Order: sequence, then C-alpha cells, then structure tokens
Amino acid sequence: MSLELIAEHMCRFAGPWEVDADEVRGPGVAIRHGSACGSDGPGHLDIDFVLDNGVVISDCAMATGLHAWADTTAMSVMEYVRHGLGGQHDEFTLAFPGWRSVTGGVVGWGGGDDYAAVQMWAMHRPLLGWLAPLIKPELDRRSFNGIKLFLGGREGHEEAEVRVNGKVNERASQALFEMDWPRTAMGSVARAFVLLVSPEWAVSRTWRHRLKVNAEGDHAPSWDRAH
Ligand SMILES: [Zn+2]
Repeated sequence: MSLELIAEHMCRFAGPWEVDADEVRGPGVAIRHGSACGSDGPGHLDIDFVLDNGVVISDCAMATGLHAWADTTAMSVMEYVRHGLGGQHDEFTLAFPGWRSVTGGVVGWGGGDDYAAVQMWAMHRPLLGWLAPLIKPELDRRSFNGIKLFLGGREGHEEAEVRVNGKVNERASQALFEMDWPRTAMGSVARAFVLLVSPEWAVSRTWRHRLKVNAEGDHAPSWDRAH
C-alpha cells in the first residue's frame, strides 16, 4: 500500500516510477521499506533509497507526511543521483569538514497567517552548524549519511527531531527544541534533509569502484583502476 503512495510522491521527479514486488523502481534508484529506527507507530514508515551502485540512504516519514519527505529527503537523493556533488553549500562544508553535501532545502507548512514562520526561521539560520558537534559522533556510515531535521507544531504541541540515518539523535533533538524558533498559535513546522557524502567517495567516482556491503548495510567503497 505505502509503496504505491511513495511512487505517487516520486512522480515529481522524472520517471517512470513503478512498483515492482517489494520496491519502487525509478531511474538510478530503488525505494524499499527500511528498518532504520524500527518504530512501528501508526503511519510510521522507514524508507530506504538503494542507489544503483548499492549505497543505502535511510530515513523515516509519516505516511501523511510523504509530501514533505519527497520535497526534502527524496529531493536530496535525486539531486545526487542526477547531478552528483554539484551544488555545494558552504554552511555544511564548514559544519562538517571533509564531507560534501547535497540538500533539498527546507520545506514548511502550517496554519494561519504565520504558517511559514518556522520554515523562514530555519532557512535563515545555520542550524546544522549549530548542531554539528552533537551530530558528528552519530555519523555511523562511512560514505553516505542522511540527516533529517524536523521542528515546529501547534502552540503547546511543539516538537523537534533530528535523525541521523533514520535514528533519532536525542541530544541534537533537544538542542533543536530549545532554540528560539517561532511558536505560533495556528501551527507552523519545517522539515529539512541533508545528505553528507564522503570525499573518499567523491574521489572514487573517477575510478571504477566495487562495493563491499557489510551486515549493517553500510558500504565501504573499494576501487581498482578501470580496465
Ligand atoms: Zn523510522
């Protein structure tokens, strides 16, 4: 069921996107049910992108929040799939020295006149720079790490969540919650996703590489001269 929903949301990217048994297939990538955080809450989806080169990129979304997932997580992954490490953002390069980044930007939604307040706030602050010291120890994949930020809510029901490769980072989530983003009566939330790619991987793009996949689903690139 959710694979059909995911396929629908991927239609904003050039397709075709087809549900094939246990995955959604598209150009350069497959999308599957993942198990990054293992939550089985109602409507909770663990979603893995599996690139054609074998790399797995994990994140979570609510079935009702797939639109925002597509605008952020899928946007970052598809940007990488289609263009590689093209658009660099100084903010992330400074926050995570040695890593290259791809991001789909910050999306937001909410109610009332202030519906975009949290999105605007988040867009104009170096959030990942502020959170980097808490996030760095959680980068547990050698080549590709996905970071999701979510913040906002209705007055009295605000929340903030930082996930690294689909797993909640409690300290970074708490730090994000305590920042002075606008609390609005009618509600305003924002979501962002950044894909960090190791420079080792960027170098390997000029070589013919092979992947070794370990039990954790992490990927250590090794490469030989093209022949
Ligand atoms: Zn999850």
